[in-house]
Amino acid sequence: MTINVTRSSMPPFEEYCEEIRELWDSHWLTNMGSKHQQLEQELKHFLGCEEIALFTNGHLALENVIEAFRLQGEIITTPFTFASTTHAIVRCGCTPVFCDIDPRTYTMDPEKLEALITDKTVAILPVHVYGNLCDVDRIGEIAARHGLPVIYDAAHSFGVFRNGVSSACFGDAAMFSFHATKVFNTVEGGAVCCRSAEIQRRLCDLKNFGIHDEETVAYVGGNAKMNEFCAAMGLCNLRHLQEEIEKRRLVAQHYDERLGGIPGLQLNAHPAEIQPNFAYYPVVFDGFRLNRDEVFARLAENGIIPRKYFYPLTSAFTCYAGKAGFDPTKTPVAAHVAERVLTLPMYADLPIETVDRICDLILQ
Ligand SMILES: *Cc1c(COP(=O)(O)O)cnc(C)c1O
Repeated sequence: MTINVTRSSMPPFEEYCEEIRELWDSHWLTNMGSKHQQLEQELKHFLGCEEIALFTNGHLALENVIEAFRLQGEIITTPFTFASTTHAIVRCGCTPVFCDIDPRTYTMDPEKLEALITDKTVAILPVHVYGNLCDVDRIGEIAARHGLPVIYDAAHSFGVFRNGVSSACFGDAAMFSFHATKVFNTVEGGAVCCRSAEIQRRLCDLKNFGIHDEETVAYVGGNAKMNEFCAAMGLCNLRHLQEEIEKRRLVAQHYDERLGGIPGLQLNAHPAEIQPNFAYYPVVFDGFRLNRDEVFARLAENGIIPRKYFYPLTSAFTCYAGKAGFDPTKTPVAAHVAERVLTLPMYADLPIETVDRICDLILQ
């Protein structure tokens, strides 16, 4: 049997059936029904955020929040991310400006941020890569000094807390993905958490064709609403989240025991003030006997499919070839990591014996 990098978490079948039963009475399947509203309330409570808007997926949540802030110009971001982050900026008519990353957390390096700010800069859009929080204090301080909003791509960081404060609470807004492959899923889904009630109201209009009320269509909006079946999945999965993260913690701990201290392997470090979600298990092969691609091939030959996540950098994508500013050599740390990183299989029900088999294959 093939072992993939991830495997979606699902609640017990009966629990989901029970959750959707009332939809057969109400016949209300989407358009901010009772499940949608209940999930909003439960997520606000869990994340401790002031405002939330739920979306059909994380990517559209990101496009809509860029639109809600009415951004037009340059947005400083990082290329060590999923396609969605850079594409959202470009699809909204803005220009991504790529900042390099920190070699340990793989998130935006605040040391390199300020030099990229110009009079065209309209926002900062960093990514909490693998659930590692960005240096939110320093990024926030630089942004405040320049009067720029900070929107976090928090797709990887659902359930991550710093000293009890969730990743939803940093910056002016945070986008989450509830895709099937994430720590918390609604099959497909996403959210924006923000501080401003006005931005939240605009997000609600934008995700529903710009319809503000029965007779007022205020924006040229699209359709990005989370439906009731997805919201119901979210209500179920949220009940099991702590158990999900605890199981992932045990998998990560076993990997750490087997791979820790091996020369040439850089593991992901979690500072003491962070409560991680163990979303991914990245290993950087730098000076190891085998290079990343050799490890990938050896695992693949044995039915284990890790991912070169994130490789290539978004600034190296074919669709951006030849475009000014899309140059991976301008972010050498990100380019270095992208050539060497592999995310190993990581999910709640990954058997410890499989973790051992993966580690044996890497180390033998
Ligand atoms: C998953 C992901 C997204 C997109 O979310 P979807 O729900 O799949 O649309 C955006 N950014 C990052 C970093 C992601 O991992």
